[in-house]
Amino acid sequence: PFNEDVVPQAAEDPLFGLMAAYKADSFDRKVDLGIGAYRDNNAKPWVLPVVKKADNILRDDPDLNHEYLPIAGLPEFTKASQKLILGADSPAIAENRVISLQTISGTGAVHLGGLFLSKFYSKTNPNATIYFSNPTWANHNQIFTNVHLPIDTYPYFDAKTRGLNFDGMISALEGAPEKSIVLLHACAHNPTGVDPTQDQWKKIAEVMRKKSQFPFFDCAYQGFASGDLNKDAWAVRYFVEQGFELLIAQSYAKNFGLYGERAGCFHYVGPARNGSETAKRVASQLAILQRSEISNPPAYGARIASLCLNDVSLFAEWEANLRTMSGRIIDMRKALRGKLEELKTPGTWNHITEQIGMFSFTGLSEAQVAKLRSDAHIYMTKNGRVSMAGLNTNNVNYVAEAINKVVK
Ligand code: PLP
Repeated sequence: PFNEDVVPQAAEDPLFGLMAAYKADSFDRKVDLGIGAYRDNNAKPWVLPVVKKADNILRDDPDLNHEYLPIAGLPEFTKASQKLILGADSPAIAENRVISLQTISGTGAVHLGGLFLSKFYSKTNPNATIYFSNPTWANHNQIFTNVHLPIDTYPYFDAKTRGLNFDGMISALEGAPEKSIVLLHACAHNPTGVDPTQDQWKKIAEVMRKKSQFPFFDCAYQGFASGDLNKDAWAVRYFVEQGFELLIAQSYAKNFGLYGERAGCFHYVGPARNGSETAKRVASQLAILQRSEISNPPAYGARIASLCLNDVSLFAEWEANLRTMSGRIIDMRKALRGKLEELKTPGTWNHITEQIGMFSFTGLSEAQVAKLRSDAHIYMTKNGRVSMAGLNTNNVNYVAEAINKVVK
């Protein structure tokens, strides 16, 4: 039944393909600016010291076992996750309007949200389309397509200014049908590194309120954008404050460096009126979806995150670790821009320091990206996105000089 017409050969995932090509390259000065994972100044994966500490506490716990977690995951983890994204004093939490399920990291949370919307939102809003930014994290496209939600995009990146195309975004939302679903990156937009300002978020909320549109926040980088967990949650909290009913996908891959442990959380925030009653019903259906998809989530990463989130001193240490990561990335932005300007590389490079989070959308063309790879063994996605975490004091000048060569 699986002949070529039925199951054609699919293209390799571009990001994981890039990773494999980098690994296979034997050049000693090769540079990996592809994958969105933090690296230390020696280009090595970094286990956060606070994670190591939590790991040791767990390993020493004689009562630790490998039993199943509940369907919705580790309760102390999901509770703490609500507080982290919504704020400990969030009225939505106090009013029991928030329900949360532990998921297979951020991807699992986006998927669970997509599945829920496809099954229930579509009932009263048939053909409701989910709009995401152009460009967005490549997986959004396939996750929502797989659950049969119609997809469309709103303009986001302005290639000329290398900043936000705010007018384009607003007029697309104004032009989108009422009750459309709008996917928003909570902070540190992937792949562009460009976020709306607080005033721009207010305007986005105003338009979405007018059009009764439904927000779905994807939050994969809390603490990575500014180094401040509260600041990075501002947009989500503002929408909740404005009374929106909404969904949140939360990942701990980047901010805890727990990539492979798949620790994440999905939240539904009910409306200000009758919110707790709605949340209870929503929770019951989400439990069924979760049970049929993964039965129950993996325990270890959530236990580590939970220890850090629920202990005052570990939490403070985590915040310091986050500042180490975001601070090093900011330093690399400054260094790359500085060197490109010093070399008088044609074009403007202020966007490198103006963009935030893990990524920078450099504006390099596909041909330039290919040349960087063949001539200098520097790997990045073909859209010119650079993972800033791949830069360090040993390679930033080498990278700047190589960019300078391909641009000139
Ligand atoms: N959403 C965005 C925008 C991302 O960039 C990522 C990871 O790169 C994710 C979600 C999900 O990541 P994970 O499943 O590793 O938590």
